Amino acid sequence: MNSRMLTVCGLALLCLLAPAMRAEEAPVPGKKPLTEMPSVIAIPPEAQPSDHFDPETATNAYLAAIPADARARSDAYFEGGYWLVLWEFLYGVVVALLLLNLRWSAKMRDWAERVTRFRLVHTAVYWAEYLVLTSILIFPLDVYENYFRERKYGLATQTFGPWFKDDLKGLLIGIVLGAILVMLLFGVVRRMQRTWHIWGAVVAMVFFILFVLIAPVYLLPFFNKVTKLNDPRVTQPILRMAEANGIPARDVYEVDASRQTTRMSANVSGFGHTMRITLNDNLLKRGSLEEIQAVMGHEMGHYVLNHVYKFMMFALIIAVLFFSLLRCALGWSLARWGEKWGIRGITDPAVVPLVILLGSIFFFVLNPVSNTFIRTQEYEADMYGLNASRQPDGFARAAIHLGEYRKMSPGRLEEWVFYDHPSGRSRIYAAMRWKAENLHLFPGSK
Ligand SMILES: [Zn+2]
Repeated sequence: MNSRMLTVCGLALLCLLAPAMRAEEAPVPGKKPLTEMPSVIAIPPEAQPSDHFDPETATNAYLAAIPADARARSDAYFEGGYWLVLWEFLYGVVVALLLLNLRWSAKMRDWAERVTRFRLVHTAVYWAEYLVLTSILIFPLDVYENYFRERKYGLATQTFGPWFKDDLKGLLIGIVLGAILVMLLFGVVRRMQRTWHIWGAVVAMVFFILFVLIAPVYLLPFFNKVTKLNDPRVTQPILRMAEANGIPARDVYEVDASRQTTRMSANVSGFGHTMRITLNDNLLKRGSLEEIQAVMGHEMGHYVLNHVYKFMMFALIIAVLFFSLLRCALGWSLARWGEKWGIRGITDPAVVPLVILLGSIFFFVLNPVSNTFIRTQEYEADMYGLNASRQPDGFARAAIHLGEYRKMSPGRLEEWVFYDHPSGRSRIYAAMRWKAENLHLFPGSK
């Protein structure tokens, strides 16, 4: 998923994607990346079933299979990501303050008013100007973070040309979808001056739900090819597991994520009848069959445990909270600086950079809370996946593969603040704990 599309949807309420859209990413096919984690083919002796099986010892044995340099690289990549969260935030604050204090935002509004006399269209034209200008200002950080850094760590597969083309496609989608959203929101603010914070939250939520619903089917094909998977060796165990768990899936889909990245991933997307199971080609190429089943069990957990709906409830609460705070903060800042910035009031599109500024502060502070909400769901899906797939060793292998871009053994506070999925160590330990209580399922050892 392109980062700019996220920016647009994050505008109103969420810098989060719904669980339905979240990828259980992991690593690598084709060209050997620098960071490649080992595919642990053989189960370490300490993780073999025995009468002295101990989850902690088994976990450490799996972790010991990772070469020191691969682990150092993964730690460096992930810890660098902590700083990027901060730099992105500060960079965004500076850009917003520039737009306001230099009155660029007011000038863009004036241009939009000259282009057409239709008030509704002013908002859309302003949005296009705003998104193009901020994309240019943010481009240095964008290209460093999403192109050079990904290449440096061996996670990217694109050269600059195709990468930039994808970036532009994201920008176009952002202009179109974002324009629809801001027109709706300004429509609400203009008509319901007293209750717009409530209706604004509702409109943003409905928009977000529609986005989650259409993205996998209508937006993903702009970036990747999605095909039906026809290898019965892979699909049959998955479809049998789906049937056994009451999931209405007839087909399994494959997406050519290797076009952009070496990360492995899978997801269950959509809801109701648009529900579909998708694996990415990196997982298919590099994951063992046990590993694929363990990952699919996890994805089915998201579905059966209704994580999409629970996430929507969470998002709605956050949206109402955000819009209520936004109402107060906008009133306060406009009373102080509105004239200086050339903003006429909350119905003026020139207010957008201020809304984005306040939103980025809100979501920056909220980050550990949203991470913890999502990570808790991920942990639930892990438990469900172990029970459904009965592949604790496949799950441990997957956790190691995913460790290519996620630090394996963080401190507890670090995991709480920064992780939107359980760490590799937590996941392997959970798998080995499950295995310890189900040793009767593993007569003899491989
Ligand atoms: Zn998940």
